[in-house]
Amino acid sequence: MKSFFHFENRYFVTGALRARTALSIGSRASLMPTGSDLPVIKTPEGVPFIPGSSLKGVLRAFTERLVRTLEQLGKRINGQVVSACDPLDEDQRCVTPKIKEQISEKAADERTFTEKLWEKSCTVCRLYGSQWLASRVSFQDAVLRNAESLVRLTEVRDGVGIDRDLGTARTGIKFDFETVPAGAEFDLNLVLENVDDWEVGLVLVALEALGNGHLALGGKTTRGLGWMELVRLQVQGIQAQDLLQYLGGQIPPPTAAERFRQALLAHLS
Ligand SMILES: [Zn+2]
Repeated sequence: MKSFFHFENRYFVTGALRARTALSIGSRASLMPTGSDLPVIKTPEGVPFIPGSSLKGVLRAFTERLVRTLEQLGKRINGQVVSACDPLDEDQRCVTPKIKEQISEKAADERTFTEKLWEKSCTVCRLYGSQWLASRVSFQDAVLRNAESLVRLTEVRDGVGIDRDLGTARTGIKFDFETVPAGAEFDLNLVLENVDDWEVGLVLVALEALGNGHLALGGKTTRGLGWMELVRLQVQGIQAQDLLQYLGGQIPPPTAAERFRQALLAHLS
């Protein structure tokens, strides 16, 4: 298991998400990342941003689908069977409150307790965290970085209501919705801690899905909204043995993203 008790490594993933098409803006973050409520919101000053929690939700949901597919194919990562639970359904989680209780009763100390929790947790909870395990990936809010190059920050559009039963546009149902125009760029900042190379690869694969048309952000994506491009992607890593240098202010050198993708492929069997 990866340690929660001491520093092994830290990776900084930076870059920007550029909107290839307009992005729909919601008034609040959605609980369901792929639902109709939208992950782009505005600061009180009117500056659009994607909350880190929303970005994490979208990438996590994608990773769950990916890992379930690998599981169905009988794949292993690093020799271990992969799995992804349904974190939205308490009874379908890898560690239910009941399992947690059982572990808690048997564990002699906190370390054993954490190790047992780790053993029972699915591949995705181990990385993205769960009710019981701390996340080893943290996402900062992705704030609009190029406001000055956009004619306007947001636009209001007319929408036509779709009848969910008939799948047709019903006349008379109109609503307005707000979008961020194409060309908007959002700063991307992720930190991964105490991770294996292949886990960095797993996060990068999800980020790249967002950048190459396999995954969209926000609502109304079937109407062509929310398609992004990933630009200036950079990964910088610090290992335990180099910690002091970097605490002293040295900037870690960039590592090619390709290395982590290759590590993921190499650990898949
Ligand atoms: Zn899980």
